[in-house]
Amino acid sequence: MDFEYTAEQIHLRRAVREFAQAEIAPHVLEWDENQIFPLEVIKKLGQLGYLGAIFPEEYGGAGLGYIEYAIIIEELSRVDGSVGIIVAAHTSLCSNHIYKAGSEEQKQKYLTKLTSGEYIGCWSLTEPEAGSDAAGTRTTAVRDDDHWRINGSKTFTTNAHYADVCVAMAVTDRAGAQHGISAFIFEKGTPGFRAGKKENKLGLRASATGEVIFSDCRLADSQLLGKRGEGFIDSLKTLDGGRVSIAALSIGIAQGAYDAALKYSKLRKQFGRPISEFQAIQHKLVDMATSLDASRLLTYRAARMIDKGQRVTRESAMAKLFASEAAVQIANEAVQIHGGYGFIKDYPVEKFYRDVKLCTIGEGTSEIQRLVIARQLLKD
Ligand SMILES: Cc1cc2nc3c(=O)[nH]c(=O)nc-3n(C[C@H](O)[C@H](O)[C@H](O)COP(=O)(O)OP(=O)(O)OC[C@H]3O[C@@H](n4cnc5c(N)ncnc54)[C@H](O)[C@@H]3O)c2cc1C
Repeated sequence: MDFEYTAEQIHLRRAVREFAQAEIAPHVLEWDENQIFPLEVIKKLGQLGYLGAIFPEEYGGAGLGYIEYAIIIEELSRVDGSVGIIVAAHTSLCSNHIYKAGSEEQKQKYLTKLTSGEYIGCWSLTEPEAGSDAAGTRTTAVRDDDHWRINGSKTFTTNAHYADVCVAMAVTDRAGAQHGISAFIFEKGTPGFRAGKKENKLGLRASATGEVIFSDCRLADSQLLGKRGEGFIDSLKTLDGGRVSIAALSIGIAQGAYDAALKYSKLRKQFGRPISEFQAIQHKLVDMATSLDASRLLTYRAARMIDKGQRVTRESAMAKLFASEAAVQIANEAVQIHGGYGFIKDYPVEKFYRDVKLCTIGEGTSEIQRLVIARQLLKD
C-alpha cells in the first residue's frame, strides 16, 4: 500500500489552491449572497485543463485520473463549494457519461468542447416524482417517424441554466423497467428544450440548480447516448464516479471549516487564554482532524480503484457516506468553536455550514448510500 501523493499530485494541489485563493476567495461572499454563477472562473478552469482531468488527451483531456480529479474538487471546495459542485456536475456526470457511453462522433463533438470549457455541461436524472427512486423516471422519449419526441421535466439539475449540453434520461420502453430508460444529449437552443425555475437555495448558492423542461422536443438518433434502454444502467455507473466527487466536495468544505476553526481558536482569548488551550476545544479539533483523515483515506482509495479500472460501487458509496456525514459534523463544530462569531457572515464558517448539507443529499442521500452498501455486502 502507498499512502503518499506523487510529486506531480502535490504540485497540482498547490497550483489549484493558488488559483482558488487568487481567483475565487475574493468573491465568495458576493457570489453567495447574490447567487452569481462564476462563469468566467469555470471557463478559466477549462483553459487550465482542470475540467478534463479524467479524460484522455485525444478528447482535450489532461490524461490524469480520479486521484487528481479529487484533488481539484477538494481544493476548489476548500474555498467555495459552489465552484466544486459546478465542476463536479460538469465533469464526472455530464462529460463522463458521454465519455463512457458515447460514440466516437459524440465524444469528438461534445467531449472536446466540455474538457476545454467552451461548453458547460449538466446531467439530469432527478425528477419531481423520481428522486431516490430514480428508476421511476416519467419523462418519455417516443419514436416519431425517424426522430425521438421527448416530453417531461427534470428537477434539481446543477448548471441547468448555463449548460450548452445536457445529458438527460427518458423512458423509451415503459415495460423495460430499469432497462427501458435511455440517455439523450440535448444541445442548448434545441426547440422544446429549456431550463425552467432556478432554485433559491440554503447553500452552494453560486451554483445554479433548477428545472429542465422538454416539451415536444425532437431529437435525431445521433443524440441517443449509449444503447437504447441502457441509460439508467449507465447512469448508475456514472454515479459510482460521481460519488467520489461528492466525497471530495465534502472533504474540501470540511477542510475549509477546520482551517478556519483552528486559526480562530488560537486567536480568540477568553478567561485570559486562547480558547485552543481549553481541552474541550482541543478535543473538537482532534475529532475534526481525525474524521478528515479517515474521509481522505476512503475517498482516495475509491479514486485509486477507479484509476485501476476496478468496480467501486461499494467503496465510492462508503466514501461518500462517511465523508459527507463527517463534513456536516466538522462544519457544525467549526461554527461552535467560533461561538457567536460563527453565526455571522464576517467569518467563513457559516457558509461552510450551509454549503456542506448538500453533501449528504446530492447524488444519493445517506440513506440511499447505506442501501447501496448493504446490497453489496449481502451480495458478497
Ligand atoms: C443542490 C442540488 C444539486 C443537485 N444536482 C443534481 C444534478 O445535477 N442532477 C440530478 O439528476 N440530480 C441532482 N440533484 C438531486 C439529488 O440527487 C436528489 O435531491 C436526491 O437524490 C434525493 O432525491 P429527492 O430530493 O427527491 O428526495 P427523496 O427521494 O424524496 O427522499 C426524501 C427522504 O426519504 C429518504 N428515502 C427515500 N427513499 C428511501 C429508501 N428506500 N430507504 C430509506 N430512505 C429513503 C431519503 O433518504 C430522504 O431522506 C441535486 C439536488 C440538490 C439539492
